[in-house]
Amino acid sequence: MTAPLPLDATGVITIDLSALQANWQALARLVAPAECGAVVKADAYGLGAAEVIPALALAGCRTFFVATPEEGRAARLLAPDARLFVLDGLFPGAAPLLLAADAAPVLSSLDEVEEWAREAARVGRKLPAALQVDTGLNRLGLSGSDVKVLADSPELLAALDLRLVISHRACADDPSHPHNAKQRAAFNRRRALLPAVPASLAASDGLMLGAAYRYDLVRPGYALYGGQAFQGGPTPVTPVVTVEARVLQVRTLKTGDSVGYSATWQTARPTRLAVVAAGYADGIARALSAAAGKKGGVVMVTGQRAPIVGRVSMDLITVDVTDVKGEVARGDLVTLVGPGLTLEAMGRAAGTIGYEVLTRLGPRFVRRYTGGGALP
Ligand SMILES: *Cc1c(COP(=O)(O)O)cnc(C)c1O
Repeated sequence: MTAPLPLDATGVITIDLSALQANWQALARLVAPAECGAVVKADAYGLGAAEVIPALALAGCRTFFVATPEEGRAARLLAPDARLFVLDGLFPGAAPLLLAADAAPVLSSLDEVEEWAREAARVGRKLPAALQVDTGLNRLGLSGSDVKVLADSPELLAALDLRLVISHRACADDPSHPHNAKQRAAFNRRRALLPAVPASLAASDGLMLGAAYRYDLVRPGYALYGGQAFQGGPTPVTPVVTVEARVLQVRTLKTGDSVGYSATWQTARPTRLAVVAAGYADGIARALSAAAGKKGGVVMVTGQRAPIVGRVSMDLITVDVTDVKGEVARGDLVTLVGPGLTLEAMGRAAGTIGYEVLTRLGPRFVRRYTGGGALP
């Protein structure tokens, strides 16, 4: 058994850093000779960049992607020798923050390219950058006509120490989607107009589409954290995250009693109910509520599945443990995500995706880390 929880902890997220490292290495082997980077934006998907980044660096990862300049600053302190790219690019006037972090912006518009080139003129040297070209997601990225303008602007290109050209995918989770081949073709066309630098198209899902989609570098995030993003078959990674919360009390209800706000759920038999200290303020989606005729989420109590009943409230859920064999006691931990309860399953039950489940787990959970040291 691990050390006891702090007395005031409502619950605990256990992060297996050795599994994280093994996942990165499995993906690195899978995509070789392409390089495997790591996306650690949003505090490493909520798992703690301070622990995740050093563990990945020890596993061999050399290239990290964050979203913002501030995440870049924090990542630079954790991985002094790594290559760092900032996916949200250059915020107006924020060039000094990127320079201080020695982080390269992923430039996604001509405005950003021009501002970065002005900064290069100011400091008197070429500045490192990645370029993002849009290939059909229509989110960030230079359009086809922007790419042509840039290709015809040698003075802009000369200001950049261009390290990478990337694009991002709309439908890579679905291997049968026609968008995949279209985006790949558009990526190749745009790239052909630009200086010949390494290319990156695939995230967790796209890297599973095969070698043609991996180019020089892949950018997984979710898969490193144990997530299954690709619909066309299993990604060779194992779970990293277990989420548990405390039972605050176990109560006995009569047939016909209702549970929770708005009395949406009623017992059909004498019922044993566990009240658990996690709610929507902790990222346990209110959509996991169960009502008459609508199933809700499921948790594990001593290794047995048990349904959430009634409404999920801010700090609490209520779980029907009538059919759970054995004792359920005040102070016990029930499992919300873990063996037999995937992030994806919780996402489906809540009408969302595992990514959102993972990144919304709140600050009241204690985060506990196992493994993650230097690898042989
Ligand atoms: C978040 C993000 C990724 C990582 O995506 P996953 O699906 O978590 O692997 C890769 N590239 C870009 C541009 C992103 O925004």
